[in-house]
Amino acid sequence: MCPKCDSSDIIRIKGGSTWTGYQNFIRGSAIKMVLVTRYLCGNCGFSEEWVEDPKGLELLRKKYGNDTTGNPYV
Ligand SMILES: [Zn+2]
Repeated sequence: MCPKCDSSDIIRIKGGSTWTGYQNFIRGSAIKMVLVTRYLCGNCGFSEEWVEDPKGLELLRKKYGNDTTGNPYV
């Protein structure tokens, strides 16, 4: 359900999809990438990104949990 227009026409785009033309990820560590899934509203175009992998979330929490800068791209 779209939070903007209440449409149920939601398109789910897995991270790394060639549809977006680029690898869609947050840098989790030097060697491991955390994939981000994008949800796109087919009606109004609103999009959100989610980290769906619990291991990816854990990785990010460990790495950035104490980082007060809040910058995931350091
Ligand atoms: Zn919408």
